[in-house]
Amino acid sequence: MTLPTDQPIHRVAMLSVHGCPLMMPGVRSAGGMNVYLRKISQLLAERGVCVDVFTRNHHAGGPELLELGPNARVVHLSAGEPELSKEEVVPYLADYTDHLRRFVAEEGTAYDLVHSHYWLSGDVGAGIAKEWGVPHLVSYHTIAAQKQRAGGEPESPVRLEAEARMAAAADRVFASTVGEAEDIGALFGLPPERLHVVHGGVDTELFRPRDRAEARRATGIAEHERVVLFVGRLEPFKGPDILVRALAEMRDASDVRLVLVGGSEEERSAGWLEDIAADLGVGSRVRWQPAIPQADLPDFYASADVCAVPSFHESFGLAALEAMACGTPVVAADVGALPSLVRDGETGRLVPSHDPRAFAAALEELLDDPEHASRMGAAARAWASGFTWDRSVDETLDGYRSVLSAGSERPLVAPCV
Ligand code: UDP
Repeated sequence: MTLPTDQPIHRVAMLSVHGCPLMMPGVRSAGGMNVYLRKISQLLAERGVCVDVFTRNHHAGGPELLELGPNARVVHLSAGEPELSKEEVVPYLADYTDHLRRFVAEEGTAYDLVHSHYWLSGDVGAGIAKEWGVPHLVSYHTIAAQKQRAGGEPESPVRLEAEARMAAAADRVFASTVGEAEDIGALFGLPPERLHVVHGGVDTELFRPRDRAEARRATGIAEHERVVLFVGRLEPFKGPDILVRALAEMRDASDVRLVLVGGSEEERSAGWLEDIAADLGVGSRVRWQPAIPQADLPDFYASADVCAVPSFHESFGLAALEAMACGTPVVAADVGALPSLVRDGETGRLVPSHDPRAFAAALEELLDDPEHASRMGAAARAWASGFTWDRSVDETLDGYRSVLSAGSERPLVAPCV
């Protein structure tokens, strides 16, 4: 048995080849992972741990070094053309690694550990941690095998193999729920002691209940409408089309409006959904709001009677938590982490299938009984308040300490100033 370290942790290198914490979530592939990286890095820095997040440069000519806050930086490393999709990045991982090595050597910085995010960073992180003689921890955020099992598109063998190597080589694998840890253990043959749970969180100051009438004035939603809200990337795996179909299944629903928030105007992300809505004759009751900054989301959550999360899998599900923190009940698919976030019958409803009729029924239960919905909303706020980002940072630090054993040789890492 190794004893956890009693030495302070001074400096952490976060490797996130794809997924810059400064990207706007809800557009293209940016989402929960970007939010998580930004929040965890800022809060670690507040606790005296310097953080550098190394990510691929996604802006032509953009600056290389950016501040996330005091003692937390983002380092943009060039690796392929900025506009490449994540699938096209693989051939440039060697460039990313070279630039990372050069940047760190020029600064003369040493790190206590390497924490890699998403499969694209797994091999790079394992190699760099070995070179530096420090522990390597990984967070998958999403796992191809899980996505495939949930009915997602077939994933490339390159990714599937990289995800298996990632588990085998890491000193610790972070999962976002106990259930996900068990799943990762079973998928990759890892014993429980190599796994560690770090939950996602919600900023309960930003995401808090507010006056519905005022929120509706801000979002331009009419007072008489009954509103179902979807927040997130508008991709089929998130299931927004299930909600469009559910709208068409509802009885007496002429005053029910589906508001979709996410995707980009530039990519016309909602085009496919608008086609489905038009075919089903519900086009006039579907409103699309292209992605907005997180600071503007609480008005949307607070405007809604119910927030729906019909995903085929969620390794966490920040949008569900944010809605609940705003006092809005959630109707979610009973998959992945969602049953650990939504308490069925208490803070919302869990739907056992992706059948639009089943979603319509669960949504109608809340839309048709505002008092019931409002009781659930109050319970949702109370429940979500337990998911603080501070708790996530405590769990992150526990995970870091667990791999830095007392008495083992460690590089001399300069403290944060
Ligand atoms: N989000 C946002 N603006 C938008 C849509 C989404 O800031 O227009 C954020 C949202 O607040 C949430 C994240 O994107 O924190 C999505 O995370 P979630 O875990 O729900 O889904 P993921 O993207 O990880 O699949």
